[in-house]
Amino acid sequence: MNLLSRLMDLIYPPRCGVCHAFLREDGVNHEGREMDLCGPCFSSFVEAASPLCPFCGRPFGSGGGEDHACEDCLAARPSFDIARAPYIYEGLLMTAIHELKYARKTHLARSLGPLLASYAARWLGNPADKLLVMPVPLHPRKLRQRGFNQSLLLARHVASRLEADLDYLSLRRTRFTQPQTRLTSDERKKNVRRAFGVVEPTGLKGRAVLLIDDVATTGSTLNECARVLKKAGVKEVYGLVLARTATH
Ligand SMILES: [Zn+2]
Ligand SMILES: [Zn+2]
Repeated sequence: MNLLSRLMDLIYPPRCGVCHAFLREDGVNHEGREMDLCGPCFSSFVEAASPLCPFCGRPFGSGGGEDHACEDCLAARPSFDIARAPYIYEGLLMTAIHELKYARKTHLARSLGPLLASYAARWLGNPADKLLVMPVPLHPRKLRQRGFNQSLLLARHVASRLEADLDYLSLRRTRFTQPQTRLTSDERKKNVRRAFGVVEPTGLKGRAVLLIDDVATTGSTLNECARVLKKAGVKEVYGLVLARTATH
């Protein structure tokens, strides 16, 4: 730590991005990487643990048992190869993601981004092919309203941690869609159908893409992005979201 950042820490002592508690020695230090997250907040996040669907990563909640394909993946395998989420969308993490998106607390990406990045490093540490990291895009109208894409804020941390390329231009949201939150599973699928397009497919042929989003419920957004990317010649698509709902 250099003198200037020591001085800044004295003037503005680092705080937890989620609960605003001052971070002293208990700032979570994940594999040597500091994040603006206190111990109590970090340990309140609920991991999306087994049993889960090996394809889409949907956790089945408590009750134990082995990993097994979920109903959706049994009916039709998704267009992505594998999707995972480190956490369940609930509690303090749900509040934090909500504030990041809707209360414009973009500083929260400094807490949540490294969290997602360190999971990505454990999951995809040594991929056979160099990954291309892509955030799920927002429609330009939504981007103007919000002022930022929260998935891109997260994807930057992931790309830099994996030393992967970041591409936030090739995949576009071409159709303005209703928010997915109030829709049923079937409505979600219809809603995102033909909502995405690829701008310059030439650079994507044969690549392995890691799609990043903040939250997934049914996985239909990741699935639709993956379908479009594979059509454009992408070889493998992995999906990674920070949190996903356990049931739908
Ligand atoms: Zn905290
Ligand atoms: Zn599944």
